[in-house]
Amino acid sequence: MPKINLLPKEMAELIAAGEVVERPASVVKELVENSIDAGAKHITLEIQRGGILYIRVTDDGCGIAFDDVPTAFLRHATSKIRTTADLERISSLGFRGEALAATSVVSKTEMFTKQKDDVFGTHYIIEGGEEKLYEENGCPDGTTIIVRDIFYNTPARMKFLKKDITEGNYVAAVFERIAISHPEIAFKLIKDEKIALNTSGDGKLFSAIYSVLGREIASTLISLEAGGPVSVSGYICKPAFCRKSRAVQYVFLNGRYVQSNTVMAAVEQAYKNSAMVGKYPAFILNIDIPFETVDVNVHPAKTQVRFSDEKRIFDAVYIAVKNAIVAKDTRPEIILNKKNTSFGRMSAEEYRQEVAKIPPTPAEKAYGLTKPTQKPTEKPVVNKNNESETSVVFRSDNTPFFERKDVKEYLEKTKSVDVNIKVDEKPTEIQKDLPKEPAIEKKTVDIDSAVDFSSEPKFIGEAFSTYIIAEMDDSIYLIDKHAAHERINFNRLKSEAVNESQQLLLPVNVRLGREEFDAVLQNLPLLSKAGFDIEDFGNATVLVRAVPAMLFSEDVADMVTEAAKNILLKGIPESEKLDRIYHTVACKAAIKGGNITTKAELENLAKTVLADKEIMYCPHGRPVAFKLSKREIEKQFGRIV
Ligand code: ADP
Ligand code: MG
Repeated sequence: MPKINLLPKEMAELIAAGEVVERPASVVKELVENSIDAGAKHITLEIQRGGILYIRVTDDGCGIAFDDVPTAFLRHATSKIRTTADLERISSLGFRGEALAATSVVSKTEMFTKQKDDVFGTHYIIEGGEEKLYEENGCPDGTTIIVRDIFYNTPARMKFLKKDITEGNYVAAVFERIAISHPEIAFKLIKDEKIALNTSGDGKLFSAIYSVLGREIASTLISLEAGGPVSVSGYICKPAFCRKSRAVQYVFLNGRYVQSNTVMAAVEQAYKNSAMVGKYPAFILNIDIPFETVDVNVHPAKTQVRFSDEKRIFDAVYIAVKNAIVAKDTRPEIILNKKNTSFGRMSAEEYRQEVAKIPPTPAEKAYGLTKPTQKPTEKPVVNKNNESETSVVFRSDNTPFFERKDVKEYLEKTKSVDVNIKVDEKPTEIQKDLPKEPAIEKKTVDIDSAVDFSSEPKFIGEAFSTYIIAEMDDSIYLIDKHAAHERINFNRLKSEAVNESQQLLLPVNVRLGREEFDAVLQNLPLLSKAGFDIEDFGNATVLVRAVPAMLFSEDVADMVTEAAKNILLKGIPESEKLDRIYHTVACKAAIKGGNITTKAELENLAKTVLADKEIMYCPHGRPVAFKLSKREIEKQFGRIV
């Protein structure tokens, strides 16, 4: 056995530093967390070459007293905890007293720091753990730390660094997380002399999210807030906007970014059956719990935590997220493309050309009426002359079109003076295509007051034998009849402890593949919960005596094979298998797109969907209905802008 040596101090320090400082991003994390602990309101980070060459963090926090500066760079030197009891309830981000020591051992570190009430500040330089300068300095209040040439003295570490751009991205990711976790602090990131991030520090979580994640993601979020001993607040994405990766998942525990499988699983569980399979929710959650119920001292980087009561955290998160989805998620809305050729948005010239194309109507011919000849400088506008009457005017002409002499004469000769002007009973094809001009009516109902806010859905019809068109409140809904029926069936199956069965007149033999056969036999209790009565018939064959009641007319063999396939899918946890069987049954029992469905059935579906906010997605996460608001339609017709 070789002799056991005690390592020299420098080597021991390098080894210890390796745990805390893995790459530039880990230095940034520690420095910025120190600034937050120091009560800073503004924190600026500048990096060059991904932080490998240069990292500078400037804050306006409390600063360090002249005498304390060298101590701050020693291992296990901290102002944040004193006793073992403090270790049990940590409220600051730092507490291990390692970061400055570790950083200064593997780089060239320089610090300027000044406390508000001190006359002078301190300028301190330490390279590879060796003090190079320690003197008074007239620097501003707060602290600036510059870290240069990281790992210059540990080439082995240097080798593991990635390209500048990648390291720079790691740094930005760390900084962004911290910026979101503290909306009350204004953060600025300068990357290779360009501003890469700027948060306002206005204290609003949404502002911070907007600055960091951008408008596109921010616009898909809904807020949530749940109090109690485990307080959960923040933002989650609407289920329809779940993403291909878990990149936008942030958990902040008592203000600290952490990675928690418990929280992640709770959120994802809450999205189950709302989000598409294989897509992940975006979320930014702040979880606040009593400090003593969590251990953050699990790993030097402090991103892993241990909860004293995992289940309590899981339940609180699950309930908060689920409630928010149910209460706040709205049906996806159709926003029509702004650019269209509708009459109201034509240029004056286009309008004239369009009108010139319309052949004169017999009435126009008879009375020698021509189309408006004046160049309308703008689209026709509805001009409210008084409360009960509206008339159409062209802005270039001071005389309203329908008040012009020739028009009036015409109106007098026809007896419809106080009813709608109907120049031609049968509009020509071209006229039909043009949006209807606002008609003169004796009583014109104001658009807004005409809104019918009845919440009873009104069935309008069906398109392409697939989509139900219904009207409710102030919107038109397009409902996918299959997805809707599937979801309703699924909810019904799930709400029963054991589902009703329908005995088959003659039991059916179903021959399965080997794997499917095994899957069926292993899951007989689940299948019977869904309403199947299945027996092992040997030789990869099962005997089906009963099927779920809602499936009475379906092909039994097809049904059972499909259910078997669905529970066989790779990576399906045990807990999801019953849902899979329900998916299969719900889908098979649902009416199909393209098939003929009776009006009564369609009406019934529309009513059920629109009355129940929870029927939002099919069990596979596809939306059940889209909404098209009256406002959006009016915008398209140029009735409102
Ligand atoms: P820890 O944060 O775990 O206490 P560090 O090595 O990161 O350990 O810092 C050591 C000490 O230096 C801190 O406890 C704090 O008192 C002081 N310190 C570090 N950075 C700052 C800063 N930006 N502003 C004020 N004090 C700081
Ligand atoms: Mg620290």
